[in-house]
Amino acid sequence: MEQYDIIIIGTGAGGGTLLHKLKDSGKKILVLERGGYLPQEKENWDTVEVFQKERYHTKEAWKTSGDIDLHPGTGYWVGGNTKVYGAALFRLREKDFEQIQHAGGISLEWPVKYAEMAPYYTEAEKLYTVHGKMGLDPTEPHRAEEYPYPEVSHEPRIQQLHDDLRKKGYHPFYIPLGIKLNEADRVHSECIRCNTCDGFPCLLHAKSDADINCVRPSLSDDNVTLLTEAKVTRLVTNASGTQIDHIEALYQGTQVLFKADIVVVACGAINSAALLLRSANDQHPTGLANKSDQVGRNFMKHLNAAMLAISTKPNPSIFQKTLAVNDFYWGEKDFAFPMGHVQLLGKSNKDQLTEDAPFFTPGLVLDEMATHSIDWWLTGEDLAAAENRVQVIGENIHLDYTENNTEGFNRLVAKWKHILAGIDSGDSFFPHGIYLRKNIPISGVAHQVGTLRFGTDPATSVLDRNCKSHEIDNLYVVDGSFFPSSGAVNPSLTIMANALRVGEHLLARMK
Ligand SMILES: Cc1cc2nc3c(=O)[nH]c(=O)nc-3n(C[C@H](O)[C@H](O)[C@H](O)COP(=O)(O)OP(=O)(O)OC[C@H]3O[C@@H](n4cnc5c(N)ncnc54)[C@H](O)[C@@H]3O)c2cc1C
Ligand code: SF4
Repeated sequence: MEQYDIIIIGTGAGGGTLLHKLKDSGKKILVLERGGYLPQEKENWDTVEVFQKERYHTKEAWKTSGDIDLHPGTGYWVGGNTKVYGAALFRLREKDFEQIQHAGGISLEWPVKYAEMAPYYTEAEKLYTVHGKMGLDPTEPHRAEEYPYPEVSHEPRIQQLHDDLRKKGYHPFYIPLGIKLNEADRVHSECIRCNTCDGFPCLLHAKSDADINCVRPSLSDDNVTLLTEAKVTRLVTNASGTQIDHIEALYQGTQVLFKADIVVVACGAINSAALLLRSANDQHPTGLANKSDQVGRNFMKHLNAAMLAISTKPNPSIFQKTLAVNDFYWGEKDFAFPMGHVQLLGKSNKDQLTEDAPFFTPGLVLDEMATHSIDWWLTGEDLAAAENRVQVIGENIHLDYTENNTEGFNRLVAKWKHILAGIDSGDSFFPHGIYLRKNIPISGVAHQVGTLRFGTDPATSVLDRNCKSHEIDNLYVVDGSFFPSSGAVNPSLTIMANALRVGEHLLARMK
């Protein structure tokens, strides 16, 4: 069995970013990724293929309460879910790292605070070419410097919306976006600002994802080996259970064993918890590193809703995902609890709407709806709850999730409808408004976090502040599992920044 200094399992926002941080260390690094490279093909930008046929989602079936099949909206590729993400790359707010009282309970304090995370956020924004403009978002955490690239401009319909919101006293701002767009020199811009970005892979490789920005640039170094189609099935400890001795993987269909001084799990919050549970042994009878009984628990995925605001005015926007609003992130005048975050989605077309339309809605109506709508994504914070959990039952991943802390979020959705109805009275949005809200079901695990939370107390957390297992000295986790609370902005930049922070610790440890 060949011996490595470090093995990284998974190449998404966490694993891919960590690899990039360690690539120049000279250490012998093995990366095991269960997926292959996502093919660069015309279907990347085909809405029917991507949304209706779910071409890039796993065909795996998980289970949920009542033994019901669950088809998760997730994919296994080099780059993980960043291959299809919307690349909205937000920092959590300073207060998100503290204990916060919500209407529905307590959001937990983090063992690492914003000030410690801030330089890694800066590093992650550079690595993922984030475009933005500081000073506009009223809840923005302190930034030492401006974004590395200028904001992505609003198209005219969105600029008008921006101006209308400003007139009403709100503070819309530019979504921080990880795309390789050069608006000053479109001829040489890798990104063409197309209408198939959010939820689609980028046919031009112009989206800053973990594959293109981190994994591929790491492979020219001799010390880095990437094996694709290598699904890790078990972590095996030494006799006393204090170290990972070796790992078992199915590599292109054959079982292979690998050994390393340090093992980093980065399979995504659900699969990482499942891997630890599947690796139970005599020393760890309920799953690796699970004396606290927290492995797989506290699963969070945000309270999410998509909202279609249909107006009499056409919306010809192509790249719509440029504007966000955080005016209600911490609440409002008569509601002193957090409510959440509002951002634009990519512009929907009739093929995206088909899935949710009643079967009698003719194509023409859907077309009209799509060309007259502005598409929103609203996110609220869900709270860590022991009963929201990942289990492995038989061979299957079993996921239980019941929404909590909904009061503030429902208030946000109602508020946002009211605000949209109030702007441009009658000229833009219908006087009484048509607002179609779709709550995202349990299969929508895009924002999965929390299943192996970090903390200072081994009785209530799985990982320590360096994201090392409290119980197993050479086992680390760098995907979304470590979040003690979910905040209400998209999670990837925090996963990336944390991977860079843990990477620094690992570089010092391996010296
Ligand atoms: C449609 C969509 C849009 C999104 N938009 C945004 C957005 O705009 N902004 C944002 O911040 N976030 C967004 N997200 C969420 C974002 O993609 C995730 O938060 C992020 O990718 C999670 O990173 P991760 O490292 O935890 O897991 P992943 O990125 O999922 O990576 C996990 C990796 O582990 C591999 N793996 C799993 N199991 C094994 C195993 N047993 N052996 C070997 N390898 C394994 C997987 O193949 C994958 O490569 C979006 C997600 C989706 C699906
Ligand atoms: S908008 Fe740019 S980054 Fe996004 S898919 Fe289109 S070309 Fe790629």
